[in-house]
Amino acid sequence: MSLWQEAVIDRIEAETPRIASVFLKADIARHIAGQHLDVRLTAPDGYEAQRAYSIASAPGEALVELIIERLDDGEVSPYFHEVAQAGDTIEARGPLGGHFIWRAEDGGPLLLLAGGSGIAPLMAMVRDWARGGGPTPLLLVYSARTWEELAFRDELLQLEAGHPAFRFIAAVTRGPKQRAGDSGRRIDAASLRQMLADWRHLPRHVYVCGSNRFVEGVTRGLPDASLPAGIIRTERYGGAD
Ligand SMILES: Cc1cc2nc3c(=O)[nH]c(=O)nc-3n(C[C@H](O)[C@H](O)[C@H](O)COP(=O)(O)OP(=O)(O)OC[C@H]3O[C@@H](n4cnc5c(N)ncnc54)[C@H](O)[C@@H]3O)c2cc1C
Repeated sequence: MSLWQEAVIDRIEAETPRIASVFLKADIARHIAGQHLDVRLTAPDGYEAQRAYSIASAPGEALVELIIERLDDGEVSPYFHEVAQAGDTIEARGPLGGHFIWRAEDGGPLLLLAGGSGIAPLMAMVRDWARGGGPTPLLLVYSARTWEELAFRDELLQLEAGHPAFRFIAAVTRGPKQRAGDSGRRIDAASLRQMLADWRHLPRHVYVCGSNRFVEGVTRGLPDASLPAGIIRTERYGGAD
C-alpha cells in the first residue's frame, strides 16, 4: 500500500454546475488510466475523513486532475466546492487499483460507459487513447441528467471532430438531447443494442463506471446486447442514485 503524502491544490475549476475539477501537485508515481487516489482530510480536532477519487488526467501529466461531484449531504465532496482553495494542502495516496485499468497495449475496440462523475477514469482512458493516435475504435456513451451536466463536454466534442475512430454519445435523462446521434433516455439493453449496431464494431474491452444504480442498470443490459461478461469491468462509486 502506498504511503500518504502531501498534495497541494493548484487550482479548482467548475466543470459543470455540480462537478469541480481539482488539480493537484502531487509527487505520485505515473498512474495507469483507470486508477484512483485515496484522499484524506483532517479537521483541526484530528477528525479524519477519507474517500477515493479516480484520476481523470492522462498518465504522465504534470498535475493530477480529479473531478468531484458535490453531494449536498456528503461529508467530503462539499469541502472541495465550498472550502478548499488553491494553495491548500491535503493528503493523498496512490495510484491505486489494478483491475479497472486500460493501457494502450491492451488495444480495443473499446466501449466506455459512464454515468455522472463516473466519467473520471474513462476520461483518463480517452485522453491516453487520443495521445496514441492509433486506429483502435473507441465508443464513449456518457449519461448525465442534462447536456449542461456533462463534464468535459467541449473536449469530447473536439476530440470527436478530430478523430474518426472516436465516437461520443451523450445520453441525457432529464433534458432534451442536443444532437441527432445522442440519446434522450437512460442507457438500457435496447438503446445499447442500437448503439452497438450503429457503431459496427465488437468491443474487446468494456468499462462501466458510475453510481451503484448506474452500473447495475447498465450491466443488466449488456448480456442482452450480446456482450460476454468476461470483457466487462466495472467501478462503483456508491450511493443509490
Ligand atoms: C474507486 C472510487 C473512485 C471514485 N471516484 C470518484 C470521482 O472521481 N468523483 C466523485 O465525485 N466521486 C468518486 N467516488 C465517490 C467518492 O469516493 C465519495 O464516495 C463521494 O465523493 C461521496 O463522498 P461524501 O463524503 O461527499 O459523501 P458521504 O458522506 O460518504 O455520503 C453522503 C450520502 O451520499 C451517498 N453517496 C455516496 N456516494 C454517492 C454517489 N457516487 N452517488 C450518489 N450518492 C452517493 C451516500 O450513500 C450518503 O447517503 C469514487 C469512489 C470509488 C470507490
